[in-house]
Amino acid sequence: MPEDHSHRRYNPLLDEWVLVSPHRTKRPWQGQVESLIDEQRVTFDPTCYLCPGNARVGGVTNPTYDDTYVFVNDFAALQSDAPAGGTHDGLIRAESERGICKVICFSPRHDLTLGEMAKADVARVVRVWQSEFYELGTHPDIGYVQIFENRGAMMGSSNPHPHGQIWSTQHVPNLVQREDAQQQAYYAIHRQTLLSSYLQQELSSGERIVCANDSFVTLVPFWAVWPFETMIVPRRPQAMITEMTVKEVDDLADILKRTVTRYDNLFRTLFPYSLGIHQAPVKQAVSDHWHWHIHIVPPLLRSATVRKFMVGYELLAEPQRDITPEQAAKRLRDLSEMHYRAEV
Ligand SMILES: [Zn+2]
Ligand SMILES: [Zn+2]
Repeated sequence: MPEDHSHRRYNPLLDEWVLVSPHRTKRPWQGQVESLIDEQRVTFDPTCYLCPGNARVGGVTNPTYDDTYVFVNDFAALQSDAPAGGTHDGLIRAESERGICKVICFSPRHDLTLGEMAKADVARVVRVWQSEFYELGTHPDIGYVQIFENRGAMMGSSNPHPHGQIWSTQHVPNLVQREDAQQQAYYAIHRQTLLSSYLQQELSSGERIVCANDSFVTLVPFWAVWPFETMIVPRRPQAMITEMTVKEVDDLADILKRTVTRYDNLFRTLFPYSLGIHQAPVKQAVSDHWHWHIHIVPPLLRSATVRKFMVGYELLAEPQRDITPEQAAKRLRDLSEMHYRAEV
């Protein structure tokens, strides 16, 4: 692997390439960390529309929930009653899209993140993901269920209260369609999932592994685009999160908590990111080729305030990165799993 020269790396999940320019990071890491002063910690914010017992903008009052709380988004991007039909006139083409958008409050506590919540409470979030995924998947109009979390103002998240979202749609979205096709083509030839083969390769080299437990591995993918992008991959191939055993649910909670804590410790800030689960489309007849996984895509590059931008060449030609995935994995791997806000 060329560690000093510009090269391209192939992403087999999306059938696309990323440009890597390691020679631009020749200078050693300076080690300076510009911590942001985190907002003062408040466990309850009377103006937060996600805290228990508060009124939401839409007028509904939240129950005084004490673990996790799920509701239909008051300002949903998708409508469950969008009229059927579409337009197809030459190159002008559109189709109706029905869907249901939900919000999950991870905890009644306004100030706790996935990294700081107790493992048992993160496991409860995972079980809510499973039950929501299952329930939405049985809806006749729903073809795909996208579970995600957008964390931090830098990612456009309007509320610091720890929460995630689920957008379920009639059609399978672009990226999932591409991953579906790539995994299907791989499985047809090799009779094992693309990510099983990839995981075997990564585990034998170890250089991009961040942390692991009995059931999951967190790694910086060989083809990562964002500086500290990671994937959480189950060791056992499964098409959907509903296939997890009880032990795997607990192990997912463990690896999520440990991975997010490492991110927070990297620049000693609540690390902004988008996290999302990719899994088989719910109405797909055969999904043996699917190996569900989590992507975590954070924008920060050098400190709590210096982020990577996707502009110019990246926006118009191909994604590009300087720090190599191997360097990023090493930095994440060397961090403590004790959350910096828990230090005395
Ligand atoms: Zn709140
Ligand atoms: Zn994916």
